[in-house]
Amino acid sequence: MKPIVFNGDDSAYISTYDGLNHKIWNETTGPIVSLRASVRKHYLDQQGYKCAYCRMLKRENHGLSWDVEHIVPKSEHPRFLFEPENLALACKECNLSKLDQKVFARPLRKNALYPRGKEHYTIIHPHYDKYEDHMEIAGFGGKVIYIPKNKGKGKETFIMCDLLRFSYDYGDWKDFSYAITKEVSEFVNRCPADATSKDISRFLSTLNFTINPDFAEHSIR
Ligand SMILES: [Zn+2]
Repeated sequence: MKPIVFNGDDSAYISTYDGLNHKIWNETTGPIVSLRASVRKHYLDQQGYKCAYCRMLKRENHGLSWDVEHIVPKSEHPRFLFEPENLALACKECNLSKLDQKVFARPLRKNALYPRGKEHYTIIHPHYDKYEDHMEIAGFGGKVIYIPKNKGKGKETFIMCDLLRFSYDYGDWKDFSYAITKEVSEFVNRCPADATSKDISRFLSTLNFTINPDFAEHSIR
């Protein structure tokens, strides 16, 4: 994913930023409004209209569907407010769940530069990590569940962005939902850090056995 390059009015505005008052980000008038729109447009395009954390596809442009996400929370480190590699787009649900939670693997030195490289983060970093290395998205009859591939970033992202919420969406398939929710939670707890995609596949095939065959017949394709 290419980070945004600010120019024109946007970069002029950024040059006036004091590095402290992150609350300017949410102002509803002034230059920040068009700057936010530039960021949204750039990352929607880069991410193919998919959330950085759950990869859910939403073919909408407006800010009612998408939040500009500060990967390192802006309240925690306001000086990274306009750092292009700290910006991405997230769906409302992931963003709300993630909120101001810490994402650094180690505390940051005062006034340190933005840590570049995946090793500095506990969650899947949209600019530095390959999503598929850490998360398996499995489809069941047109719906999806998320299976962390490891106890590190996979598990952390799963918890921080509440990706378990997708399992609740099974709604009317009550037994199915319960079985999956339970199994995935257990899997997260026992998944070894070096689990391979083979291990994941084995887990998926176990899941199939736990599904009530009456449901399976109608729901799984
Ligand atoms: Zn999301």
